[in-house]
This record gives sequence, structure tokens and C-alpha cells, in this order.
Amino acid sequence: MPEIFPIKLSYTWCYLVKQGDKLLMIDASLSGFEKKFEKKVRALGLAVEDIDLIILTHVHYDHVGITNWVKEKSGAPVMVHEKEASILEKGGTPIPLGTETLGKLLNKLGNIFNFIFSYKPVKADILIKDILSLAKFGFSATVVPTPGHTEGSISVLFGTGESFVGDCCFQIFKRKDVFPIFANDVPQLLKSWISLLNSEALTFYPGHGQAFTKEVLRFSFEKNQSRI
Ligand SMILES: [Zn+2]
Repeated sequence: MPEIFPIKLSYTWCYLVKQGDKLLMIDASLSGFEKKFEKKVRALGLAVEDIDLIILTHVHYDHVGITNWVKEKSGAPVMVHEKEASILEKGGTPIPLGTETLGKLLNKLGNIFNFIFSYKPVKADILIKDILSLAKFGFSATVVPTPGHTEGSISVLFGTGESFVGDCCFQIFKRKDVFPIFANDVPQLLKSWISLLNSEALTFYPGHGQAFTKEVLRFSFEKNQSRI
């Protein structure tokens, strides 16, 4: 069974997952949080230097900010979908489209103040095109494309049901509906939800908010399926 260590920095969660003697990092917070991250990792009895692999669910500033720093400190390779690698290499963030009032407002503001969302560029080491097993990295998990929030969004699914879905779902404001406030392609996002509902995933760890169950995703899908 993988051991999961959720780490919250500002309004974004990233995750460390320990399996055997291997340590996986999923998403990489915002830039400027390097020291806070290191402190939290140490408090968990782990070390940044021990991270073996970094997977970025998608390339938005609040999920990739300390990637460069962690990579330098640990020497871990960085895995990202091939459609997002060039953005990561530039250190940029294309602002996603809003799906509702708050998201639309933040999209407008984000486009005006886009310079705020820069971070240290990173050259990815492993590019995802399609489903990829993580067995050769020592994890009983699969990386699957789950586009919609962004074109190259990916999720990490462990065989035991733990699933890391980035911004494919937002668990914010204590709402039961986990539909994200941003998505570039809503029908595509809902199709990704269908594949998650049909997968071995049982517990979902989002980029924003607490983990939730498959029942919550099913409820949210039923509520939003007319948007396909
Ligand atoms: Zn995002």
C-alpha cells in the first residue's frame, strides 16, 4: 500500500507518495514556497533529497512553482504530458477558461496580471503521450491522460485506488460538487471524469482541497453531465 503525505502550501496541495523505498512527488506548489515545503517534508520524517520522481499533473504556476528547486536538490526526473512541456520550459502559465462566474472573473484578472504567474523554467525529462505504467520507477501506479482542465492534464492512479487528479476536480468551499472553476474544454473534462469513474480509482486527491470519494465524483458527474 502506498503511504500518502498531502502537503498544503498556500491554496494548493501537492503530494508525496512513499512505496517501499521509493518516493514520488506529485505537483510542486508555488514558487517562493521552497523552504516551507522543505520544513513540512522534514516534519514528516522525509527528505527532499530522497524524492525519486516528480510528476506534474499539468503546467500551471500553482502546481509547478518549486519544480526546478526540487529537481536540483533531489536529481529526480520530471514527468509531464508532452503537450505541456514547452510551457514548462518557458516558465509560463496560460490562464484557463472559467466555467462559472468566479472562474471567469479570475481568468480576466489572470490575463491582465499574467506576469505574476511566472516561475523558474524546467526542462522535463519524461514526456507522457498516453497511458504509462510506473512499475519501472517502483510504483504500482499508472499515469493516465485526463484532459479538460488543460489539454495535457494527467492523473496518477494507484492500483489500490488512490488517485491524484490535479485540477481535474476542485474540492473547494466545502461544496459537494467538485466541478472545477476553470476548464479549457468542458466536454473533454467530463469525458475524463467518465474514464476516472470507470477506472480502479476510489479516493481522489485534488490539487485544491481535501480528498474525496468516488461517490462524490459520481454525484458531481450526474449534476454536470448535461454540459457534455
Ligand atoms: Zn490548474
